[in-house]
Amino acid sequence: MKKERKSAVRYFGKVTKDLYTIMPTELSIVILMKLLKSAGAFLQVSVTAMFFDTAARYLEGAAGREELLKWAGLFVLMMGLPWIFDAAEEGLQNIPMFLKHHSLIYRLHNRVTSIPLIRFEEPEFYNEVWRAKMCIYNSGLFHYFFGFIDLLPLILQFAGTIWVIAAFHIYFIPLAMLSLLPSLIVRFRYEKEQYAMRRAQTPLEREKDYLWEVLTGKNLVKELRMMETENYIREKWAKARDQVMDETFRFEMKNANRVLLGDLFKLCGVTASIALSIYLVDKGVISLGQFAACIAAFGSLQFMAESVINLFAYQKGRADFAGDYYDFFENEPEKEEGKKYQGLRDEIEIRNVSFRYPAGEKEALSKVSLRIRKGERVVIVGENGSGKTTLSKIIADIYRPQEGQVLYDGQSADSYERNSFYKKFSVIQQNFVKYQFSVRENIGISMPSQVHNDERLMKSAKAADIEAALKRIGGLDAQLGREFDGADLSGGEWQKLAIARGLNRDADVIILDEPTSALDPLVEYDILTKFLDITKGKTSVIISHRIGLGKFADRIIVMKGGRVAESGTHSQLLASGGEYSRMWHEQARWYQ
Ligand code: ADP
Repeated sequence: MKKERKSAVRYFGKVTKDLYTIMPTELSIVILMKLLKSAGAFLQVSVTAMFFDTAARYLEGAAGREELLKWAGLFVLMMGLPWIFDAAEEGLQNIPMFLKHHSLIYRLHNRVTSIPLIRFEEPEFYNEVWRAKMCIYNSGLFHYFFGFIDLLPLILQFAGTIWVIAAFHIYFIPLAMLSLLPSLIVRFRYEKEQYAMRRAQTPLEREKDYLWEVLTGKNLVKELRMMETENYIREKWAKARDQVMDETFRFEMKNANRVLLGDLFKLCGVTASIALSIYLVDKGVISLGQFAACIAAFGSLQFMAESVINLFAYQKGRADFAGDYYDFFENEPEKEEGKKYQGLRDEIEIRNVSFRYPAGEKEALSKVSLRIRKGERVVIVGENGSGKTTLSKIIADIYRPQEGQVLYDGQSADSYERNSFYKKFSVIQQNFVKYQFSVRENIGISMPSQVHNDERLMKSAKAADIEAALKRIGGLDAQLGREFDGADLSGGEWQKLAIARGLNRDADVIILDEPTSALDPLVEYDILTKFLDITKGKTSVIISHRIGLGKFADRIIVMKGGRVAESGTHSQLLASGGEYSRMWHEQARWYQ
């Protein structure tokens, strides 16, 4: 994606609004303190002048001791005040950042979970999420916002310096500006190129994260030790790390050379300012006494101007990073308001559906048409890669087809209100999650409002045939997973737990995709036939490559190469002697 040039202030409104919503009090106090501090800096100058003046008059006998002590006290106070402000500001600015940035992360989670699942198929999507997350973790929005606040006193100070030097000669001002021109270009280029580099490094950074997880995750550690591949992964990680470091190092070195060039120009400016000062002394415009002050004032003008430039350049770079967060929220999917979905009354119709994954070379489904009637138990069979899982996702509106339609009682999913629609589906995915929570949560999480309804949970556990395991490990409140000192379950038990979770929903269409983990085929067969048994009367879809299940289903759909090859009952399909019959005979030994 090409990023067009964006102005530094582009996100100021959004950031201000967001930060103010999160922490109105802290933000107001920090801003107030920053303003007081800059006012204090001006006051400090006049208090210092008054203190020195009073001291001189005291020595001459023109001022009393009390007056002198009063100014001395004020002087000390003015010296200490900025330090107090600094400390308080530091605390306030940092503490809320750490404590409250979670609400920005929370918004990001919300956004990620509302994004159509098909986007998770695109690597660029993961890059976008990673960058948006890093913006928050690096306190990007705070730095951006406070950069503007810091700009204010800086500009005031800058104006003051201009005013001082203008009193000597107006030419000093364009001279200082000109001498900074190369530095200005270097700074802005640095920010732009740095952002571009970080952006390009996103996939590498993600790879590093991933490899780190591979190296430290429990299951993976076991496998790595077993296979002695630890070193290989570690080296792979180090390679990714070194590449990021090398690129960054080379970039910084290139920039350092440019900075040096800019500094040379600044030095030329200083030389010219000295020449101009000598010229002015010669011409009698300034006195010899003013000569030194003039050169010093030029130095501080250059310094102030450079600080302003630096801050502007920073703000430009920070705006790009803030954009990583805000751009992620752009093109918010329209909230589809529709009528409340009451559940399936009649049938789901897949009409001429074709679907291709973003990374797919060919269509995963082509021109698929079928109907699933309410209360029907359908088994979808077919070889690996024939499109079974994809079809199940299309049925549950998890993916939207590029061609064709999916109709629920004659209406598309869009015509129903989203939440009420999805509530009526329960999908037990191939790679279901093994939550390292209690059994209660593992079952109840599919319907959080009922997580304390023991009767309901036990009914689901019983239906999924997991009661015995529950008894063994200590009931609903037993913790699962060794990471949190809980019990571990066998592969089959985890699968049954996932089924219990699926059954626990008030859904009227339940879809079970056979597990990918290599379960003992007989255990799996047993689980799946039981599943068919308990979903009697419910609309259910099982995706399996175990042909034997077909006997227990109301209808079998045979997928082949993304198309529906056959559809019918077990006896119909056996009699027709097609694909199903061929596969049945191939696998028959499992079921005899
Ligand atoms: P099955 O469940 O029958 O094993 P799938 O529905 O998983 O088949 O896959 C159907 C086809 O789509 C296969 O050719 C597979 O390689 C391809 N496919 C599946 N998932 C993806 C994906 N995320 N990206 C690209 N192609 C995919």
